[in-house]
Amino acid sequence: NDNKFRDSKPRLLLMGLRRSGKSSISSVVFHKMPPNETLFLESTTRIQKDSIHSFMDFQVWDFPGQLELLDPSFDLESIFGSIGALVWVIDAQDDYLESVVRLNRTILLVLQYYPNINIEVFIHKVDALADEFRTEVFQDIVQRISDELSDAGYENAPVHYYLTSIYDYSVFEAFSKVIQKLIPQLSTLENLINILANNCGFDKCYLFDVLSKIYIASDTRPVDMSCYEMCSDYIDVIVDISELYSWEHTDRKPKGEQMREAESHVILQDRSMIHLMEMNKYLCLVSVIRNPDANEKKGLIDMNCRVFQEALNEVFSRPWEQPEDLNTVEEV
Ligand code: GDP
Repeated sequence: NDNKFRDSKPRLLLMGLRRSGKSSISSVVFHKMPPNETLFLESTTRIQKDSIHSFMDFQVWDFPGQLELLDPSFDLESIFGSIGALVWVIDAQDDYLESVVRLNRTILLVLQYYPNINIEVFIHKVDALADEFRTEVFQDIVQRISDELSDAGYENAPVHYYLTSIYDYSVFEAFSKVIQKLIPQLSTLENLINILANNCGFDKCYLFDVLSKIYIASDTRPVDMSCYEMCSDYIDVIVDISELYSWEHTDRKPKGEQMREAESHVILQDRSMIHLMEMNKYLCLVSVIRNPDANEKKGLIDMNCRVFQEALNEVFSRPWEQPEDLNTVEEV
């Protein structure tokens, strides 16, 4: 039974030509490798199943670049039968025509049998391109793919495009978008976060997967990149400190009872506040409050986050039902 559940979990499949950056992306996002160290990664030579123990337990399959999908001996069902999204990585620094041709062929094949799969195109390594060239490459790739698709009769194919690089946050942002489409409870989560953010006066509020720092939901106000970076960096700080002083540390035993979930906040120079609260084993809530009086409201903010935590865990324990309203949340 457990196996069956595992098999039914959404899966991400990472594909693209050799050296396009697939191993680098999965190492940086899911294994905390510093981007510079990817220079020494061995190129992928075989299919790797990379089970990631974050809250979704999704998988990244790293394919050999030159794999021939149309080979009849290739079992399509085992690859595409249960995945949620196909992520195709294109090296934008390189001559990308061959990659686009192969991608087009793959999309047409996949859509024929699995029309519901999301196709996510990462136009990658854009850190090395000048701004105006970036837009040009982006538009050219989008054009080549949508022309091919509309020639084949697909007008609204589920294909989305992202500019990515492992040297900044863009690849995390892109994965966040990709993952959010695979979460059936997303709109419920967004509603709950909106209510929480309104009542607490949060300027922005993210629900992060701690391990990957991918955010699986946020309030529905526009995303502010600097705010996202700040929250994501703050998770690193807290994770480092928690590891230093964890329960499991051999030398330092905690004295007496400790709180189960980490909670932390910091007041910045402009008196805005970053507030972090662990929600369960995998998820934490990070919020930014620009109100200089936020510190005085800290008690209420904590309480509201606890109420949110209960609702959240209910959403995931009974995915097919709507949770009760957050009517116990109090306005700050
Ligand atoms: P794979 O064969 O698709 O797995 O490709 P690799 O992950 O081995 O990456 C090939 C090379 O691209 C490595 O030298 C990486 O350091 C480099 N690379 C990966 N991502 C980026 C990126 O975002 N920007 C730049 N400039 N280089 C990258």
